[in-house]
Amino acid sequence: MSVILFGGSFDPFHNGHLAMAQAAKTAFPAARLVIVPAARSPFKGHLAPAGNTHRLAMCRLGAQALQAEVSDWEMQAGGPSYTVRTVRRFLQAQPDEYWFLCGADSFVTLPMWREYEALLALTGFLVACRNDTPALRLQAAAEQVRQQGGRVQLLAMPPVPVSSTAVRAAARAGEDVSAFVPSPVARYIQENKLYQE
Ligand code: ATP
Repeated sequence: MSVILFGGSFDPFHNGHLAMAQAAKTAFPAARLVIVPAARSPFKGHLAPAGNTHRLAMCRLGAQALQAEVSDWEMQAGGPSYTVRTVRRFLQAQPDEYWFLCGADSFVTLPMWREYEALLALTGFLVACRNDTPALRLQAAAEQVRQQGGRVQLLAMPPVPVSSTAVRAAARAGEDVSAFVPSPVARYIQENKLYQE
């Protein structure tokens, strides 16, 4: 069995996350899918506006439609959350074939990730297209990783133009966010008055 790790800030979990997780499940129907919200992304300067408890809860609500697990390991370990450390920890607990699920915008920054070359030996990458990252740039990045011995699989899915930043901005402006996030997440944001300064 393979294991798909899906890391991110999930602040909040939105329909783009849902679509890429579904595409990953379609590509690897028998895989174990684990959503791993970060304590703090090494690439995001600020602390998460919604805080760990709310982000974890929203991941759990988002995972309901997915047959996915949610792990609080990175949150418990504290940040910054380096993928190489997380993959090592999961490999220790369950030696298997690993895939790290990410979006194209994140994947093209891979050479800047901690212990990048070691990471390529530990896990493959399942990559979802994203509007802000041109296909040619994504293909060049995938080619570079493959030349270095890494495994890359591009997911077949139409781009989903949603970001957590846009959802937070909409919530802050008092707009309805239910078109951008799974409905249990929309209810949670409303009930807990998240992202409203
Ligand atoms: P923010 O807007 O706060 O930067 P985000 O929408 O990019 O957040 P993250 O939780 O940081 O969401 O993303 C986790 C992972 O999911 C990253 O690898 C990111 O590239 C990917 N991702 C997020 N949204 C999409 C999307 N709409 N399409 C494809 N990939 C996405």
